[in-house]
Amino acid sequence: MKLTVLGNNGPFPAAGGACSGYLLQSAMANILIDCGNGTLANLQKIVSIDKLDAVVLTHLHSDHVSDIHIMKYAIEIKRRRGIFDKLLKVYAPAEPAEEFNRLVAKDAFILEAVSDDTKLDIGDTKLSFARMKHPFMDFAVCAENRGKKFVFSGDTSWTDDIVEFGRGADLLMLDAGLLEKDFTEGAVHMTGAQCGKAAAQAGAKRLLLTHFWPDYDIKDLLAEASAYFSGAEAAVIMKEYEI
Ligand SMILES: [Zn+2]
Ligand SMILES: [Zn+2]
Repeated sequence: MKLTVLGNNGPFPAAGGACSGYLLQSAMANILIDCGNGTLANLQKIVSIDKLDAVVLTHLHSDHVSDIHIMKYAIEIKRRRGIFDKLLKVYAPAEPAEEFNRLVAKDAFILEAVSDDTKLDIGDTKLSFARMKHPFMDFAVCAENRGKKFVFSGDTSWTDDIVEFGRGADLLMLDAGLLEKDFTEGAVHMTGAQCGKAAAQAGAKRLLLTHFWPDYDIKDLLAEASAYFSGAEAAVIMKEYEI
């Protein structure tokens, strides 16, 4: 599999940046994970919209979904003009219902709710899900293909469940939305240090940090993570990561 980072910020983009979005490609599947603001433009540098096999939304906060509403326009109008006729499969948590219902678009999407039990086969790639800890219902996603395993936390505060779900991942990508200096009880993201600890406890082979607060120096997040997991990396927009 190959992961291309389309956006690495949250909850708003840095100048010229983009929020959460990642293209996961294999021999037989193009899967977009999250569709935050700015990611649709970056996606189309690599594949056109009609080449997508599925979109998976970890949760329904705007920095993870805002471009899906623009994607809807593209598909509806291209279908109406006969440019292509397919509907795009979109998998998302069912809550909050108000946000989920905004994704209903029968002329653009085939929408399905995901849960802890959901197992999907998208082309040659198997997807599974695990509930994380965040104000909106959020699922980490695991993609497995040819004996390789990729796990992304979505947004989450510390939970032992990401350690369990990420066990042995070839690439573990985690929400590093906080530096330790900004951690408070009730924080809704992990710190760089917590990401390092989670990756070490999970026995992950590689750790990729993402969801960067735009004002942070990413070197500080890497330093925190590297204290627990050597070789921690930071997600870079348009960079490819082989899994
Ligand atoms: Zn977010
Ligand atoms: Zn969120």
